[in-house]
Order: sequence, then structure tokens, then C-alpha cells
Amino acid sequence: MKAAVFYECGDASKIQIAEVPNPKISTGQVLIKIHASAFNHLELWSLHGPADEGAQFPIWTGSDISGTIADLAPDVKNWAIGDAVVVNPSLSCEKCDHCLRGDVTLCDDYDILGSGGNGGNAEYIAANADKLMRMPAGFDFVTAAAAPLAYQTAWRALITRAKVQKEEDVLVLGGSGGVAVAAIQMCKMLGARVFVITSSEEKMEKARLAGADFAVNRKAGDPFEEIRHLTNGRGVDLVVENVGAATWPESQKILRKGGRIVTYGRTTGREATTNLSLLFWNEQTHIGSTMGSLQDFREMMEHVFNGKLTPIVDSVYPLEKAREAYEHYESGEQFGKIVLKISD
Ligand SMILES: [Zn+2]
Repeated sequence: MKAAVFYECGDASKIQIAEVPNPKISTGQVLIKIHASAFNHLELWSLHGPADEGAQFPIWTGSDISGTIADLAPDVKNWAIGDAVVVNPSLSCEKCDHCLRGDVTLCDDYDILGSGGNGGNAEYIAANADKLMRMPAGFDFVTAAAAPLAYQTAWRALITRAKVQKEEDVLVLGGSGGVAVAAIQMCKMLGARVFVITSSEEKMEKARLAGADFAVNRKAGDPFEEIRHLTNGRGVDLVVENVGAATWPESQKILRKGGRIVTYGRTTGREATTNLSLLFWNEQTHIGSTMGSLQDFREMMEHVFNGKLTPIVDSVYPLEKAREAYEHYESGEQFGKIVLKISD
């Protein structure tokens, strides 16, 4: 089969389309003919390297997958060849205490399908049948593939962990990434007021179209001061963080008393300074969140399938143009998801 692979780590110029062995299914698995595969930061982290010790090149990543079942192991029940499915990329042991309680993101062996290789940026993938969700008849494969990773991450962070309430003021940082855009949409769905800090006039406009009530350009003055002004000096109830070191002190300061920060990433560095006085005196809550549970995934996908939540797709590339898709992702110019359309 064809896959968008790299034989060494580097920039997008390392991506090429190559012939690789078809995946083989084992017990409990199905072979999926991939229709669409969406990009996440995992794509760039893997490509840019450094590669894990013992990594087997060529590597092809891809964690967000929609497609149809092309084959299935004899023990797989309830599925048939031709069924249209979307894949939950959460991989866990299913045996530890956390897994048995449904908290798969706390599993010691937690991993993400396709993040280290053998992923969905290819014509086929072998996936566990218990990770599949059936797509409604005629549902668009590109839209379905745009959802799993980013939208379940946002769902867990906002709804399960931070419990966003109607009419709360929420500040979303890094407002053009896949999870941030999903967070904007979910806040609006829940009736919260959304403020976004992003990096250009164009992205401000797109953030507003996605549902943001106010968008601020971080390259034009002090964005947190602007948010303070927009909230009449009161600040916000919740900050949705993924920037990390560069913004953490400001995220703490922009919170109202009793406010909370939920973080799902740290794009500018993992070490940040926490002001303990603000933490205890203002009774702040700092919440960490990673990916989603099976329940998070299913609830989120149901909202996608019934049209209450429509993932924003920035651009769609055929598999043959995967290198251009990677270049576009590296440029940081996208707003929403970049998707490879692999077959019809
Ligand atoms: Zn486990």
C-alpha cells in the first residue's frame, strides 16, 4: 500500500509517498481502508524528531482516521466488511485499575494510535475493533476524521474536567490549533462567553466565525491587558491553556477569584512559574487533562454525528500531496484541521 513516510527525521521535505507492506490484523482487529486521516501536532513531533530509540524507518504517523472495514479477524463480532467507521486513537492496556474504572488516560501503558508509526497517513491500518464507532450512513469521512483526537481532548478538558458552565467567561489560548478551535465551538455550544488570543487579524476573524465573542491579536500589544479591559477588569472564570511556560503566569493573573485553568499542552515549554499566593488566596484550581475516556470520545462523536458540533477543516490534500500538507502545517498558517483525503 501507499503511505506518506519519512526515512529520517527533519522538516516536511523528508516526506515522501512510498510503497510499504500492508498491515496484518491480529485477534480482535479489523483492517480499515482509510478514507481520510487528519493531522495533529503528533505529526510534526514525530517528523521533527529526535526519533525514539529503536524507531523503525520508514515511519508513517496519523492518529485521526475514518474509513471502511476491509477485513476482520474471525473473533470480531458486530462488524462487517464495508461498515463506515471512525477510530478512537486511545490505546490502553484494558487491564489496570485505571482502565477497569474507565479512566484510560491514566493507564500506565497509555499511547495514541499511529503516534509513533504505522499510522493513518496511508491506505490501510489495522485497528482494534473495540475502538471503532459506527458512522451514520452518508456522513462525510473528512469531517469525521477531523474530530477524534482534537475534539475528544477539548471535550475532556472543558466538559469532563473543567466543567464549563453557561454564561461563564472562558479564555482560550493558542486560538487556531485544532483543540483550541474545538474548545471555542464547545464553549459556544454550552452557552459560555469566549475570548480568544491568537496571532493574526485573519485568525481573529476565523476565531469569531468559529464562535468566539472576542478575539485578540497577541502580536498587537498586551493581549492579557486587552482581555482585562474587555471584561471590565474582572478577568475570566476559566483559562484553556496549551501554551505553557510563556503564558502560565499571565493565565494565573487573568483569573477571577475562584477561577480555574485547564491545561492540555505546553507548546512553549514544560517548566512554568506558579504564583502560590494567587493559587491559595484566590482559591484557584489548576487542572490537567489528556485526550479522553471512551465515554468522552463517544459523547463528543455523537455531537459531531448529529450536527451539534462540526469540526472546522482548514484544508484537504490527497495522499500524493502529503508533503504539501506537512509544509502547510509547519507554516502554522492553518485554522482548524488539515486532512488527507486518501480514498473516496
Ligand atoms: Zn491500563
